[in-house]
Amino acid sequence: MMTYVFRFGGGISDGSAGDRNMLGGKGANLAEMASIGLPVPPGFTISTAMCIRYYEEGERFPDELRQEVADGLAHIEQVTGHRFGDAANPLLVSVRSGARVSMPGMMDTVLNLGLNDATVEGLAKAAGDERFAWDSYRRFIQMYADVVLELDHGAFEEALEVAKEDKGLTLDTELDAADLKALVDEYKGLVRAQWGKDFPQDVHDQLWGAVGAVFGSWQSERAKVYRRLNDIPGSWGTAVNVQAMVFGNMGDTSATGVAFTRDPAKGENAYYGEFLINAQGEDVVAGIRTPQYLTRKAREEAGARAASMEEAMPEVYGQLADVFHTLETHYRDMQDIEFTVEKTKLWMLQTRSGKRTAKAALKIAVDMANEGLITREEAIARIDAASLDQLLHPTLDPDAARDVIAKGLPASPGAASGQAVFDADTAERWAADGKAVILVRTETSPEDIHGMHAARGVLTARGGMTSHAAVVARGMGRPCVSGAGSLAISAKDKVMRVPTTSGSREVREGDTLTIDGATGEVMAGEVPTVQPELSGDFGVLMGWADATRRMKVRTNADTPADAKTAREFGAEGIGLCRTEHMFFDAERITAVRQMILAHDTEGRQVALDRLLPAQRSDFVGIFEAMAGLPVTIRLLDPPLHEFLPHEEAEFAEVAKASGVDPEQLKRRAAELHEFNPMLGHRGVRLGVTYPEIYAMQARAIFEAACEVAARGEAPVPEVMIPLVGTRRELELMKAVVDQAAKHVFAERGRTLEYLVGTMIELPRAALRAGDIAAAAAFFSFGTNDLTQTTLGVSRDDAGRFLGAYVEQGIYAKDPFVSLDVEGVGELVRIAAERGRATRPAIKLGICGEHGGDPASIAFCEEVGLDYVSASPYRVPIARLAAAQAALKKS
Ligand code: ADP
Ligand code: MG
Ligand code: MG
Repeated sequence: MMTYVFRFGGGISDGSAGDRNMLGGKGANLAEMASIGLPVPPGFTISTAMCIRYYEEGERFPDELRQEVADGLAHIEQVTGHRFGDAANPLLVSVRSGARVSMPGMMDTVLNLGLNDATVEGLAKAAGDERFAWDSYRRFIQMYADVVLELDHGAFEEALEVAKEDKGLTLDTELDAADLKALVDEYKGLVRAQWGKDFPQDVHDQLWGAVGAVFGSWQSERAKVYRRLNDIPGSWGTAVNVQAMVFGNMGDTSATGVAFTRDPAKGENAYYGEFLINAQGEDVVAGIRTPQYLTRKAREEAGARAASMEEAMPEVYGQLADVFHTLETHYRDMQDIEFTVEKTKLWMLQTRSGKRTAKAALKIAVDMANEGLITREEAIARIDAASLDQLLHPTLDPDAARDVIAKGLPASPGAASGQAVFDADTAERWAADGKAVILVRTETSPEDIHGMHAARGVLTARGGMTSHAAVVARGMGRPCVSGAGSLAISAKDKVMRVPTTSGSREVREGDTLTIDGATGEVMAGEVPTVQPELSGDFGVLMGWADATRRMKVRTNADTPADAKTAREFGAEGIGLCRTEHMFFDAERITAVRQMILAHDTEGRQVALDRLLPAQRSDFVGIFEAMAGLPVTIRLLDPPLHEFLPHEEAEFAEVAKASGVDPEQLKRRAAELHEFNPMLGHRGVRLGVTYPEIYAMQARAIFEAACEVAARGEAPVPEVMIPLVGTRRELELMKAVVDQAAKHVFAERGRTLEYLVGTMIELPRAALRAGDIAAAAAFFSFGTNDLTQTTLGVSRDDAGRFLGAYVEQGIYAKDPFVSLDVEGVGELVRIAAERGRATRPAIKLGICGEHGGDPASIAFCEEVGLDYVSASPYRVPIARLAAAQAALKKS
């Protein structure tokens, strides 16, 4: 057994699918495919451990690796009967990178390695095809110069273009052996001119150069960017795969293609893919020629003329379909496959679980569970809960007018509007300024990933459904229209020209565009959108999730409209209704200001009496939207200065309403100034000093509840006191609330069930939870403030340094997005335990932003909270995440 080199093919598999950490995804799956008897060209994988050692030892190859690679080559030679570097009978290999997870940003593959001035002749003779041999050689020099020597590839492409133009040709395949031979000479000249040395003729130098380039690419800038965006640790390293070449460029019975076992955009159970006859690897995705469809059905649906693989190569197509079936049953998941046909013989070059849109993920999971391929639990576990977000957002209003200016391929669904930008850096910058942008490129490459991430949508002029833009956009959940061939895009001049009957139309940087990734349409201007459909597969999977989860899911909603949306998304109550938003209403703010600026209780009471009916009607709307469900209402929380007038006219208005002098009001406003308002006169402290405010709010709540109960189903108000740190504070406020309830119930001749509880958002409250629970029927963890007060970090100011903190691993993730389980989580755990010790039936929930974050939800399950509360659009995410958390725990 070797340490760093793992062989596959020819009846041997040193590794298997389970070894992905060692062999990378590509290597592990090549070994697995070989071991289940699929036709895989023989090869070997150099493990990720070698990559790590390579860097530890100052970027050099240890001697034992040289020996193991020699043994690996011997394995390939033995299986194929060809010899590496043998002029008469040459073996050619590909050198392919392959990390644990597939990573655009890594080195591109080098094909046809092992060709030189001598072996090219041997290859021509062995294949009986000179054109093929020289085509392979020119491809090899071009790729090697680009990805290993990192020379300017533009010069090589230009030489190829000129060669075609000279003969009046349009396609690479039309060049003959002599043309290609001349091109090879020219390429060698380009290498000499740019690199200062001759193209390496020693095949072993070629191989080590390529292996070094793969390892080197692990630390390339674009790989680092990709890792940062996707939380991939730099310590993983990449593997290198060296594999015997098979040739899709051996004429019209040869081909190369990529395929998905199911539709990765819509999820339908139909083969999906593209292939090209007489071509090699990159040709399909590079957009050099237009690829052909795999199946006849797909070709017909697209109205394409060129024969599908099913029609052009029925026999090989049949074998491929069998392989699809074998792979899906073996991996029990949708597979993304790369294959090559060499003179009617099918070879498998890659398989992996296919990236898919959220919509496809849902459909595939539900279908596979119904087919019996996976269990319902597996179906639930397979969906990335956060990705549901893509399905919950609006699509284009079908009835809205559309100014369609071009049509491309529907590469990644969803609709997006934004300002056109023509390069990734601008996209990132504009997005950071809060603008919605559409990234417009001729085609995208890994260098564009940060821009794609920042953009609302991506539009390209070139590339198919499996182009870089399409694959990456689907993975990110960005709408994408690719291959809109009529567009002439100039990144340099920041303009896109669209042909029209009368000439052409221009879209410049900053102009608004809309793209529909579901139809491929590109529209000028902004097109209105409509809400998504929540039935179908979505409804089925949500049903399974609901039957699986233990925790309830509530929503954070301040208005009847939000409450209604959330209920449609499946919310089982309100976990946080903030009352202060109601105060900002234009018609009420004067009364609010009057209340704040009043110099005595009496003055405040006058203003509060004016606010009462308005508050009551808010609560009526919310209770109606949540009929029969619990509604947690938080009494006034923010520092009062937030409501103060700023303008002269505003002061004048308040002065008039309260019949006092504006100057007197200004003095009072100045008195309210605080140095650190977030730790100042806010939360329960307002209730302690001005109990009449909380009394008014409590009255409004109970009057509204009685009113709604009189008409139908009674709501269950849960009155929540914010920022409590001691039992006494809560006891005082509970007395105020109970008093209000008693009065209202007496007046209305009706008694309703209600609870009084508190937020836990101060470390003291968490530590004293055992004591506080004596007065609280429920705790709701306000993890936004609890994070601020525990970390001593202001959320509004954290932007300046938090990025550096996350980058340097001080916090694994932004603690305001994903709960700091170690610190804040510890306090939650303590409070839950101590609260329950005092009051076993105490209701526990979470109402911070974290209530919609899957990782934080998993933590809530672990500590046994009764519910999580999330913003309306995140309710389905929370339902699924709660089910996944329950599965993980059981
Ligand atoms: P990527 O990770 O970018 O997909 P791959 O290593 O899969 O790169 O290589 C890209 C393409 O190159 C493959 O899809 C295949 O078409 C071609 N290729 C790679 N290795 C071989 C080989 N041994 N024989 C023929 N074609 C190959
Ligand atoms: Mg590949
Ligand atoms: Mg708070």
